[in-house]
Amino acid sequence: MKKWQSKEEFKARVRTWAKKIDVNVRVISIRVMKNKWASFTVQSRLLIFNAELLKVDKKLGDYVIVHELLHFAVPNHGRLWKSLMRAHLGDYEGLEASLRKLRDSSIV
Ligand SMILES: [Zn+2]
Repeated sequence: MKKWQSKEEFKARVRTWAKKIDVNVRVISIRVMKNKWASFTVQSRLLIFNAELLKVDKKLGDYVIVHELLHFAVPNHGRLWKSLMRAHLGDYEGLEASLRKLRDSSIV
């Protein structure tokens, strides 16, 4: 299992994914959140990630990052979103299950 070294490393990864997915993110913030892994605001192009993500496997961080970034273009978890998740992450459902197990959080 590989963990993130710092907030900066995590944010750099978000920027890399944002470029790849072609999403224009303005602000990336990492803070303590109670019930969510992440949240975003389309209008202000703001992405907030739960600081707990820094303590878990990078793969799970990737899952949450891609999950949120795709929501900029696809607001639901429908067929298009699922096929994009698969294209970027492969077995994303496995990652989703691991995250659920880790903590009973609901992802936006
Ligand atoms: Zn979602």
